[in-house]
Amino acid sequence: MAAGRFAPSPTGPLHIGSLYTALASFLDAHAEGLAWRLRFDDLDEPRNQPGAEARILRSLETHGLHWDGAVARQSERLDRYQAALETLHRQAKTFYCTCSRKALADSPTYPGHCRERITPISNAAIRVRVDGAALEFTDLVQGRQRTRLDRTVGDFIVKRRDGLFAYQMATAVDDGNSSIIRVLRGRDLLATTPRQLHVMALLGLPAPTYAHIPVLANRAGEKWSKQTGAPPVNDQTPQANIRACLTLLGLPPPDLDLEPMIEWAKSRWHISRIGHQDQAFDPRPG
Ligand code: GLU
Ligand code: ZN
Repeated sequence: MAAGRFAPSPTGPLHIGSLYTALASFLDAHAEGLAWRLRFDDLDEPRNQPGAEARILRSLETHGLHWDGAVARQSERLDRYQAALETLHRQAKTFYCTCSRKALADSPTYPGHCRERITPISNAAIRVRVDGAALEFTDLVQGRQRTRLDRTVGDFIVKRRDGLFAYQMATAVDDGNSSIIRVLRGRDLLATTPRQLHVMALLGLPAPTYAHIPVLANRAGEKWSKQTGAPPVNDQTPQANIRACLTLLGLPPPDLDLEPMIEWAKSRWHISRIGHQDQAFDPRPG
């Protein structure tokens, strides 16, 4: 069944910013008659937090955000990423890069030092080539986008030097699955989309439609995240949390219990109502 998806990284519990994105993605999928799939982006093993996955699942359920089908994990799909990498390799689109961080520090785009290194080298990152073609797509919230990857990032990493598949690669393979037709996520990820579209195009995978929604910021205007000290969502107050998120999404709900409130929101959701601006919201008193 065609689906939307929510793809948290299990680096910590859900916080107000990730609950907001989860709710928007859930409502959007349901309003479009799609299934809502859940995938853990758990490839960056050192950053995963023990127990975070179980805690995220519990929070989603407590907040009435029930996913469809089995929970997917990127860590269980390594063979697919490897097969995709080999496809890129056969097309001569990949090369081995041994540049140090320092060697790249002064250049906003990859300067191309290792482009000729096409035979495997150990202890090297693998990059995919980009070209000067313009990548275009229409984001349902942010509008028409046009990017030249050679000018913005250059050849980018698909497999890291430490052997981990890069976010761009794994996400392109997973979101390029023909059943995922809608990707709603925070607009902080908008700039990564052309890289994913590039990989999907090289692999002949169908691209989903994207909607990059504003992110929730703290009082200092920083995106709520683990790094900015976002407190975990309080599972004791799901109704108030969902009410706050709906209000921030432009759907202030009437006085309803949790499940009816979500049903109410499903029937009113429309992506065109989402504004462009990030919003500040602080769940903590004072
Ligand atoms: N796992 C990523 C994150 O939590 C999101 C990836 C995505 O939605 O593409 O920031
Ligand atoms: Zn290099």
